[in-house]
Amino acid sequence: MSIAQNIEHITKQLPQGVKLVAVSKFHPIERLQEAYDAGQRIFGENRAQELAAKAPKLPTDIEWHFIGHLQKNKVRMITPWTSTIQSIDSKELLQLVNKEAARINRHINVLLQLHVAKEQTKSGFAVDEILTAANEGTFNNLSNVTIAGVMAMATFTDDIEQVAREFELVHNTFLTLRDKHFADNPNFKEISMGMSDDWHIAVQHGATLVRIGTDIFGAREY
Ligand SMILES: *Cc1c(COP(=O)(O)O)cnc(C)c1O
Repeated sequence: MSIAQNIEHITKQLPQGVKLVAVSKFHPIERLQEAYDAGQRIFGENRAQELAAKAPKLPTDIEWHFIGHLQKNKVRMITPWTSTIQSIDSKELLQLVNKEAARINRHINVLLQLHVAKEQTKSGFAVDEILTAANEGTFNNLSNVTIAGVMAMATFTDDIEQVAREFELVHNTFLTLRDKHFADNPNFKEISMGMSDDWHIAVQHGATLVRIGTDIFGAREY
């Protein structure tokens, strides 16, 4: 199937209000343009250089989401291009993104990444860690970032019960944060979870953004 057909196949299954992030990492800009021509406007990249190289070559109404682990020395490379950084995994990174956004007079949406998977290699705040940080006021008084919700990845496993439990934990943590700490922030509304292999489960557990690469663009060549 073509990229356009893949996108249509996915979007027609998404409940109303759930948005598709086309994860275009490792794919050349011609393939992204094809997705754009099919109507796709949100793209996700996980490497700073790659995002900074692609964004200037593609239409300006694309919303670029950064979804990978972001090193502090790469923040400056992506802040001019990114609408949303989904992968805020430390307080220091959050402060730095706010500072860089202020420096170039931009406003950036961010999602707080939660670590719910078994793999230690995946990054993000532990659930208790994020609730403590919220209690300490870590997410208040940020001039140039809007905290728009949470993001997570499930464990890479065939055990769908496990994946479902992890997505449920993300959903519950989102609700606690929203009701206790972001009650006066109407922008705190996104739950980004679900990839090619598990997005159906993620949607059942409240995802508002799904991040899909392989099922749109095919396998990546690393
Ligand atoms: C690569 C990636 C995806 C997309 O994965 P697919 O399995 O190709 O759909 C989603 N989220 C993150 C954080 C990724 O790095």
